[in-house]
Amino acid sequence: MSQDSENTPSMDEAGIQDLFQSDSQNDFVSAVRLATNRILISLHAEEERLEEILEEIEKNSFYQDFKNSWEDLTPEERTRKWQQQLEHIVQTVYASRPYCLRCGDCCSRVSPSLHPEDLDLLKDGLLRFSDLYTLRKGEPVLNNITATLDNLSEELIKLKEKPENGQCSFYDESEKSCRIYEQRPLQCRTQECWNPQALEKLWSKDKLTRRHLLKDDAELLELLEIHEQRCSTEKLDSAIKKYWETGETSELDSVIDMLSQDVIIRNFFMEKLERSEEELDFLLGRPLAKVVEAYKLKVEKDENGTYHLIHGE
Ligand code: SF4
Ligand code: SF4
Repeated sequence: MSQDSENTPSMDEAGIQDLFQSDSQNDFVSAVRLATNRILISLHAEEERLEEILEEIEKNSFYQDFKNSWEDLTPEERTRKWQQQLEHIVQTVYASRPYCLRCGDCCSRVSPSLHPEDLDLLKDGLLRFSDLYTLRKGEPVLNNITATLDNLSEELIKLKEKPENGQCSFYDESEKSCRIYEQRPLQCRTQECWNPQALEKLWSKDKLTRRHLLKDDAELLELLEIHEQRCSTEKLDSAIKKYWETGETSELDSVIDMLSQDVIIRNFFMEKLERSEEELDFLLGRPLAKVVEAYKLKVEKDENGTYHLIHGE
């Protein structure tokens, strides 16, 4: 999953699709205007520059050809060609404001994943394990583009987010600023909302993992391996998907066993290894009780201490 996908404007915005049904060239012009204005707003670009940007868009030969052939195209053909037109609109609007306004929108939506280049932030003590959480390989994450649950193809270490609103925990809302701006992680330094390709390139590069950070602690790595085996994201995913297919609640027995193991191992880390609860989301990843929420399941514990899975939100 590409995390910067949320920076890409939606390709089928309500209102614009309706205009594709009309044979009038004026409706094509209106669709371009509407899309351009929406992208300007989402980018916090100066709205008074709309006319100037539209002039730039209209000079493009693709725009001219599209407009001239509009009446002869079917609504399906218009929809297909619109993707290319929209990409040109996006590029033109982005090019009109190629700098950061420090509006904080990107920090308000999501926290960054870390890369090996960010190691010094931990070595220097600017970031602590308790500031981080791990998304383990195979964990389900919502793909914003397809609205499907995808399984992560690699481990990610992220800065924690505020539970109440999902903002990066280092974002100071009252000051609208980053508390570590001068030493912010690589992803934040690369973030350019006017140039989504910058993050796309970064996304294909190596990510920081727990192994980078704990490589000198063989005993701890061994314990993490035990946790991986007993609380495997792959087995969890497969058991829940079998339950979805068959409706057999017995398919969830192994999930309940993994939930219990996860709690036992977390308690062991706190009681025997004297690790703080705040560090556990980094060391062991998010609790499985949290992970199953992505599958719309909720964990409940009865008076005998037995776990049950029920359908959640
Ligand atoms: S990069 Fe982030 S802070 Fe800068 S203008 Fe874009 S959304 Fe705002
Ligand atoms: S570390 Fe700073 S720049 Fe990066 S997302 Fe958090 S608040 Fe924003």
